[in-house]
Amino acid sequence: MGVSGSTTEPDREIRHHLSVDVEEYYQVSALEPHLPRERWPEIESRLQEGMARLLDLLDEFDTRSTFFVLGCVAEKHPGLIRDLAQAGHEIASHGWDHQRVGRLSPEEFRSQVRDTRALLEALSGTRVDGYRAPSFSITRGAEWALEIIQEEGYGYDSSLYPVRRPGYGYAGGERGITTLELEGGNLVEVPPATLRVAGANLPVGGGGSLRHLPLGLVRAALTRYGRNGGGATLYLHPWELDPDQPRVEGTSWLTRLRHYGGLRKTEPRLRRLLSEFRFQTIRQTLGEKGYL
Ligand SMILES: [Zn+2]
Repeated sequence: MGVSGSTTEPDREIRHHLSVDVEEYYQVSALEPHLPRERWPEIESRLQEGMARLLDLLDEFDTRSTFFVLGCVAEKHPGLIRDLAQAGHEIASHGWDHQRVGRLSPEEFRSQVRDTRALLEALSGTRVDGYRAPSFSITRGAEWALEIIQEEGYGYDSSLYPVRRPGYGYAGGERGITTLELEGGNLVEVPPATLRVAGANLPVGGGGSLRHLPLGLVRAALTRYGRNGGGATLYLHPWELDPDQPRVEGTSWLTRLRHYGGLRKTEPRLRRLLSEFRFQTIRQTLGEKGYL
C-alpha cells in the first residue's frame, strides 16, 4: 500500500457495484402479509417513478449498474429491460415473483430461475449471468438452490449476505467475491457489502441500511473494501427513490420505519456516494478479474 493519501480518502481506481433489485414497492417481502400476490395485478405500477430518478442519477455520473429484475416485472415492462440493456447496464435475474427460496420446491425454483433468465435474455439480447434471491433467502440449509442456479447456466450469484438475521442472510459466509465449488461446477459468489464491527458483520450493503445507518459507515465499508483490493457491492430498489409511493395500510410500526423511513435521503446519499466512489457492473468486474 502506498503512503500517499489519507486513510479515509476513497480510492478512485477501485470500482464498486451499485446494484438494483427491480421490483414494485408492493412486492417487498415485509408487505406480503398485507398485500398478497393475488392482488398484485390490480395495483397500479409505480416502477417508473423510482427508475426515472435512478437512471437520471446514473446518467449524470456516467455510471452503469447491474439490475436484478423480477421475471414478472420484465413481462409487464419489456421496454424497460430493452432500454436498460441498450444503455449499457447489466441485466440479471431476481427470480420470477419474489417468492422466498425456502417456500419453493427445488422443481419450482428451477422453473422460476429458468423462465426468468430466458425472458430477460430474449428481451435484452444479452447473456444473463447473475442471480440474486428475493430477500437474500438462500439461508443455511438451502444450498441446493445454488446448485440449481449453476446448473441453469448462471455464472454468479449475489444472494449470500453474510449477516445473522432471522429468515434471511447467510451467517458465516464470505464477505468478498469468492468462487463456490459445487457438484456441477463453479459459481462465483458476489455478496453484498458488510462492515466488521466488534466481531460481527454489519449489513451496510443497502436497502434500509443506506437510508437508516449513518452514511459514514457505508463510506467506511467502501473504503475498506477498496483497500483490500476488491469492490464492494451495494443494492437498492427503485421504490427507495419514490417518496410519494402509496402507503400500505395495516403494517407494523417497525415495517413502516423500515420501508418508509428516510426515503427522501436516498437520492442525496446516492449522489454523494456516486461523486466520491466509482461504480461499474458486476459482470465487468468479474470479467476483469478473470472470474467469468
Ligand atoms: Zn427483492
